[in-house]
Amino acid sequence: MISPRLILAEIARVLTGVVLIVSGLLKAIDPVGSALKIGEYLAPVLDERWAWSSLITLTLSFVLCAGEFLLGAFLLMGIYRRLSARLSVAFFAGMTLISLYSLLADPVSDCGCFGDAIHLTPLETLLKNLLLLPLSYLVLRDARGLRHLYSRRERWLPAVLAVVGIVVFMERNYRHLPLVDFRPYRVGTNLGEAIAEEDSTLQARLLASTRYLYERGGVTKAFTPENLPDSSWHFVRVQDGEDATYRAKYDFAPMDSLGNVCSEALLTDPGVTLLLLAPHWSRASEGSIDEINELYTQSLSMGYRFYGVTASSAEEIAAWRYLTGASYPMLHMDATPIRTMIRAYPGLLVLRGGQIIDKRSYVDLPTVEEVTHYLHRLREPGYIAPAPSLARSYLLLAWGILLILGFLRFWARKLHLTLYLKKRIHYPYKRKRSMRKNIVAGNWKMNKTLQEGTAFISELKTALSGKALHCEVIIGAPFIHLASIASLAEGSPIGIAAENCADKAEGAYTGEVSAAMVASAGARYVILGHSERRAYYGEDNAILTEKVRLALANGLTPIFCIGEVKEEREAGKHFQVVEEQLAGTLFSLSPEEFGKVILAYEPVWAIGTGLTATSAQAQEIHAHIRHLLVKKYGEQIANDCSILYGGSCNASNAAELFAQPDVDGGLIGGASLSVEKFLPIIEAFH
Ligand code: PEP
Repeated sequence: MISPRLILAEIARVLTGVVLIVSGLLKAIDPVGSALKIGEYLAPVLDERWAWSSLITLTLSFVLCAGEFLLGAFLLMGIYRRLSARLSVAFFAGMTLISLYSLLADPVSDCGCFGDAIHLTPLETLLKNLLLLPLSYLVLRDARGLRHLYSRRERWLPAVLAVVGIVVFMERNYRHLPLVDFRPYRVGTNLGEAIAEEDSTLQARLLASTRYLYERGGVTKAFTPENLPDSSWHFVRVQDGEDATYRAKYDFAPMDSLGNVCSEALLTDPGVTLLLLAPHWSRASEGSIDEINELYTQSLSMGYRFYGVTASSAEEIAAWRYLTGASYPMLHMDATPIRTMIRAYPGLLVLRGGQIIDKRSYVDLPTVEEVTHYLHRLREPGYIAPAPSLARSYLLLAWGILLILGFLRFWARKLHLTLYLKKRIHYPYKRKRSMRKNIVAGNWKMNKTLQEGTAFISELKTALSGKALHCEVIIGAPFIHLASIASLAEGSPIGIAAENCADKAEGAYTGEVSAAMVASAGARYVILGHSERRAYYGEDNAILTEKVRLALANGLTPIFCIGEVKEEREAGKHFQVVEEQLAGTLFSLSPEEFGKVILAYEPVWAIGTGLTATSAQAQEIHAHIRHLLVKKYGEQIANDCSILYGGSCNASNAAELFAQPDVDGGLIGGASLSVEKFLPIIEAFH
């Protein structure tokens, strides 16, 4: 059963999860770009000239990108659901405030939410966050009820892989260049043509906004070129066009030492030009100095142009030359376009005939031995450096595979494909590892006369005789039946249970039946804590604890029921509810006493309603209950405890439910009233 509220939470989970993963990944592709964007936001408090400012922004960039991706991944996989949901609400609340600030104070033109891949204005960003914030709240509200691909025991593995995967991925993009280049200076771009095209677009836009001012009778009016007035108007002047919304993509204007812009010369040169880019030489890495110097020397001998391009001052350039022996000529350019062109400092950008044919971080420069071969390749007609390969991100790949396997397993479970395997794998496992028994117990409730009850037992006895049973069979019957059916069932595999017993040992309690009387009638079990007794007869934790103690003291095995009502399940509180029910009753027992109890998880919304928990839902909460038992009584007792499922269990769903590793059988109401319906449930254990 899945409620509309939970469906809403699932939809919200997918939407927020996907947005978080996409925005995290797009930013993680370019951690340096994300750090620059964070620097723009922090500009009022963080001066980029401070030596450690880039360290701060880079650290924040790693934390933000990885955090966003992990939140999304955890939400989609359904692991650490409550924590991830809480953090995503906090994240979207924070982002909403930042986007509000950005709309009012205008510190950035583009929010940077999706790196350089998708550009949103501050208003669009605010609207996006205002949509995602309530969605993330819907996820939080029902976080516990969300489906999951991995169990509590397994979840550490995808979590570790996701963390390692994203960190390795970001580190790779930081050391080398971004895996995918979303900026205008990507390899393959013909910079000369792109700049010319941009210029003509800008000209056209300016022309379109140019106005001609005319005057008549003291009134001045602006006219477009297509709509000029008649000769009764007098021309006054041209009002130049402007386009404040247009942002130029290319700002490639390197200047030589005399202050002459030399972009034209560089872009029209049919030969090869190597540009070694660094916004500031004082902050550039000295990691590949030998390779750079070798590149320069050999470029000269092959007739290529080679320039350093920087925004550094003359002193910084001199210090770099002194430190590295650099003798290549320097061109001056603003730091911002240099950072747009390349994300590693220093980085190499190669032009041939105005086209960008290669871009490399200093860590990827050819070695001294490879330089000649590399430079020859640059000359080959049509050569463009190949894009970096995704296969290098092995861990990311491994994580992706694990995720796919998780999905496959999830759907296989949905399609019952794993049923066969589970029968083969889990049953021997259960028997080997624990003493717990498979049990099918009936609960007649207030049904059947004495004659009908005895007839049922006779019929069931006959049906079971000679059959190899794979579970224990118990019949829960009204007090009036107990003595007769217990003696009838003697010598058969059928055990008899009472449906209740008093919370007092003996005395003046008219109409009550004590545990001792139940035992004396031949019953060995007693059903306690059933939701109907809790709801209609006000049996609370204190009464139930007393009943359990008396049952145990009289040698009876309690079949103790726990489970949540519909509203609690819809609110995602079912884990909490069963925990509280156990804590308030059975958890006061000693380990030895508890070892004698059978548990029955019975979601109240499924009892007698025809609604059944899915096998995945049952397994999930049974595993949770067992986990609680492990915490309270240790692994052995938890493993030995039989936990039955109850709630509209019948012949058609029993096999799937019982195939779950933590479902050890069923407590059956309606379907235990006729042998015809009850027998196939017992046989589900075959
Ligand atoms: C019950 O009353 O314990 C029960 C599980 O009932 P039903 O099987 O009819 O839902």
